[in-house]
Amino acid sequence: MADDAVSGTPNWSFETRQIHAGQEPDPTTGARALPIYQTTSYVFKDTEQAANLFALKEFGNIYTRIMNPTQDVVEQRIASLEGGVGALLVASGQAAETIAILNIAEAGDHIVASPSLYGGTFNLLKHTLPKFGIEVTFVEDSTDPQSWRAAVRPNTKLFYGETISNPKVEILDIEAVAAVAHEAGVPLIVDNTVATPYVLRPLEFGADIVVHSATKYLGGHGTTIAGVIVDGGTFDFAADPEKFPNFNTPEESYHGLVFARDLGVGSPLGANLAYILKARVQLLRDLGPAVAPFNAFLIAQGVETLSLRIDRHLENARAVAEFLQGHEQVESVRWASLPGDAFHELAQKYTPKGSGAVLAFEIVGGADAGRRFVEALQLHSHVANLGDVRSLVIHPASTTHSQGPDEDRLAAGVTPGLVRLAVGIEHIDDIVADLELGFVAAKGA
Ligand SMILES: *Cc1c(COP(=O)(O)O)cnc(C)c1O
Repeated sequence: MADDAVSGTPNWSFETRQIHAGQEPDPTTGARALPIYQTTSYVFKDTEQAANLFALKEFGNIYTRIMNPTQDVVEQRIASLEGGVGALLVASGQAAETIAILNIAEAGDHIVASPSLYGGTFNLLKHTLPKFGIEVTFVEDSTDPQSWRAAVRPNTKLFYGETISNPKVEILDIEAVAAVAHEAGVPLIVDNTVATPYVLRPLEFGADIVVHSATKYLGGHGTTIAGVIVDGGTFDFAADPEKFPNFNTPEESYHGLVFARDLGVGSPLGANLAYILKARVQLLRDLGPAVAPFNAFLIAQGVETLSLRIDRHLENARAVAEFLQGHEQVESVRWASLPGDAFHELAQKYTPKGSGAVLAFEIVGGADAGRRFVEALQLHSHVANLGDVRSLVIHPASTTHSQGPDEDRLAAGVTPGLVRLAVGIEHIDDIVADLELGFVAAKGA
């Protein structure tokens, strides 16, 4: 499980690694496709091996809540695609975020975050983490490094943002925000769900940890809930033992293991695996949101065609953005790769292939027009999801962002007439014809 995900396949391109990284034909059966190891437990060779496994003196399978051979391949593959040292696949994107954060911050600590976030993430940060005693400051202007700097406190432990935000489609200036985080001595965690590593690899721009809702483009077919954490291995938690006591004091539940010293920079493991191993052996062990082996398999199946699907998603997204931009019933379009978009320059730098296939637009006629538009579509499915091969639509103000107060909604960029599209990989002519149906229906509003 702690294998260096990249070292086995250093010269292969992204398209080859998405199919091969982390996997060899099954040593027992010769199976070429990834086997689904549908088992809870693994027979120990003898008591000594069992003891070594539990003591982390030897890496191997113990129990599927903590690791599984199917899951292991998916972890190595996604780590390879992101350019990280290791990964942890869990039951959902929300679980990935929660573990990624709780692995660093505890009661009494503080987090600095962008306010442009997925609705579920916003709820976690705004309402649930404070119940665990973790305070969160949402920066005033996520595009201004000074705004991030101003939010830092002595007990700040990490920065959090989305590389392409959902539904505002803002591009995070990863290099600038990572520089402020590192100046404050804390890591930057980014959610790279909307971009995918095919479009953007945040670790190359200074982010330390990447999380995904693998439910979306990695799985890609709208079948499976899963999440993943990828560790760049770049942040040295041993550098400031007072700031990160949970990495630098003996862990009683692990024979006095000191994560940063025993598994980090300069440890015999040869890579800085302190963060990603702690996430697995402590938090996944204790909190328990394990991914099902079958779901791990379905994510692997999706990843094998990631680049092909994303190329098509992006081609269609560009065509839809251009169609919307020229439409008289559209007040504004948000897709960062469109010339003239406020985030165009950042999109050129960070997402030159295209700023994802999620886009949003403000329809003429406000909330009523938005509702009519969504209801009239036939090809587009009205669902709370994105990253499916199918084209999807939602009216965020009445759904994903309906649970909180108006000001939170507006801070997340959700105006009454905002419609969000997750452009699928169907034929572009059918997608555009369907959108026309929506505009005809919305005209009366
Ligand atoms: C869907 C989503 C999540 C949550 O992931 P789940 O797999 O649904 O738990 C987190 N971040 C972003 C950007 C998402 O789109």
